[in-house]
Amino acid sequence: MLPFARVSIIGLGLIGSSIARAVRVHMPTVRLTGHDADPTVRAIADRLQLCDDIADTAGAAVTDADLVILCVPVGAVGALAAEIAPELPADAIVTDVGSSKAGVATALTASIPTRQVVPAHPVAGTENSGPEAGFPSLFHGRWCILTPLEGGDPVAAARLAAFWEALGAQVETMTPEHHDLVLAVTSHLPHLIAYTIVGTASDLETVTRSEVIKYSAGGFRDFTRIAASDPTMWRDVFLANKDAVLEMLQRFSEDLTALQRAIRWGDGDALFDLFTRTRAIRRGIIEQGQDDARPDFGRAHE
Ligand code: NAP
Repeated sequence: MLPFARVSIIGLGLIGSSIARAVRVHMPTVRLTGHDADPTVRAIADRLQLCDDIADTAGAAVTDADLVILCVPVGAVGALAAEIAPELPADAIVTDVGSSKAGVATALTASIPTRQVVPAHPVAGTENSGPEAGFPSLFHGRWCILTPLEGGDPVAAARLAAFWEALGAQVETMTPEHHDLVLAVTSHLPHLIAYTIVGTASDLETVTRSEVIKYSAGGFRDFTRIAASDPTMWRDVFLANKDAVLEMLQRFSEDLTALQRAIRWGDGDALFDLFTRTRAIRRGIIEQGQDDARPDFGRAHE
């Protein structure tokens, strides 16, 4: 039996449109309703037939839903929750896909009863945005982290876990605070570093921008994929997960200083030891099926 029969998706960008496409593939009898604040996105979603209905307002999109998924930047979740609350059926479950969780939990429960809320984060994505960037297999083999709340309904969490598993994801459960710490180091800090390196390179005066682009295969271009990620989404993530990001950034700065010292004093053993440990992490990621095993991310080499 399907965990939900009538699903509403608010925010039809990369993640919302990917969920819609995946529901079509894996749960074709589910009735899908969508809404996006941007009328152009609503028109595209209509053209692509992402949902059975596209509503003009968020409230109208949720009136007969049994699952509502908010797929908007984390800074927009609080106002959106307040907007849909008066129209929400009493037995509907509300979830989100935001990349930070503690602040989102507070924002959701300010307007919606805790027993109806199960925050979640599918750890899957690309650097592209918008309804045309989505694809149905985005969640296959990826983790979706549920962060059920104290006072929440365990049955609602179990139904949401079944929903994500039906879309091909593996489900893990943790507290919102632990989620934010883990993602600070596995996602938020790497994005901050990528934004910094690409920003630094573009500000250089002695190396021209055309040289940076021309010789980017030396490593730089792999940072540019991450640094091309959506500015609104990532502004909101850093503001929402401020404490965990600052804590990880402090640890990172100390480790960077240690590396700086090793280079200055010619401590090759320290460098070699670190680089050996980091290589093992890459092997672990490949062994667990979280990346392509082919060299250079499987890029074609003529
Ligand atoms: P996206 O492609 O930019 O799509 C977000 C859509 O939501 C946009 O069309 C946006 O319209 C719309 N929107 C914003 N505020 C709204 C509101 N109040 N009501 C209705 N629609 C609204 O972003 P995304 O990559 O799908 O990210 C969505 C969420 O997923 C974020 O919380 C992000 O943290 C999370 N997430 C992203 C990734 C990733 O890799 N991208 C991975 C996992 C989780 P406007 O453009 O007009 O604002």
